[in-house]
Amino acid sequence: MRYIEPHAHMVSRTTDDYRAMVAAGCEAVCEPAFWAGFDRGSAAAFHDYFRQLTEYEPRRAAQFGLKHFCWLCLNPKEAEDVKLAEEVLALIPQFLDRPTVLGIGEIGLNKNSRNELRVLEMHVDLAARHDQLILVHTPHLEDKRKGTRLTLDVLKADSRIRPERVIIDHVEEHTVRMVLDRGHWAGMTLYPVSKCTPARAIDILDVYGSERLWLNSACDWGESVPLVVVHTALEMRRRGWSQEAIERVIYDNPREFLSQSPKFCLREERKDTTEVRRLKCGPGPGF
Ligand SMILES: [Zn+2]
Repeated sequence: MRYIEPHAHMVSRTTDDYRAMVAAGCEAVCEPAFWAGFDRGSAAAFHDYFRQLTEYEPRRAAQFGLKHFCWLCLNPKEAEDVKLAEEVLALIPQFLDRPTVLGIGEIGLNKNSRNELRVLEMHVDLAARHDQLILVHTPHLEDKRKGTRLTLDVLKADSRIRPERVIIDHVEEHTVRMVLDRGHWAGMTLYPVSKCTPARAIDILDVYGSERLWLNSACDWGESVPLVVVHTALEMRRRGWSQEAIERVIYDNPREFLSQSPKFCLREERKDTTEVRRLKCGPGPGF
């Protein structure tokens, strides 16, 4: 089956993961900027990371015929140091014109602190000034609802932000409705610990429908499953979902949201030995 992995931290993964994803039908992978598992010591370290996301990782994915896109930011886990955040945000504009950069993310809150909120507002302002899509991380701890509500209020307070150009990731049963009601997209992260399981995600889809919802693995350096979107699709099939309805969730929906960036396009498709047809990029009459 074909699918798009809209949230994966591939710099932490192996070439075996790339090969398995492509073999399972993955047509594009999108990598938000993330915490490295340790705090980076300087803005220069982020500069190198942004080069890794925009230069090296797309080439590594291309070895397996996979399109790789990315999002740039300073992750909420490193947002306590506002001065460092200011330095890192000043670096980002020079990368925004690169051909695989889709927007600003994954921004948001971790412990819902005052400094995290300040840095979130700075990122939203950066995205608005440069007309970028936004991908938001929501906290995994007991205060997810509060963190989601605070984040939604920051987005609403900036009149330049169009809700349909923002995806709020890691939603669960108690946060999905408030996200969709504000006009945003919502992502469900399938993760063996601390996040949503496939069974819960399908229950949420059964309750709320599949409009403006996507699934992702958020696979990273922790215990995570790069193929869990496909595993969930198989479980959807077992529970009686049609192939068309499954494809809407794992392929059409992420394509529709991501195509709001004119840079997002899928792999070249070879029709015969002489003609190479490029699949449609960006929004158009098909949407
Ligand atoms: Zn992530």
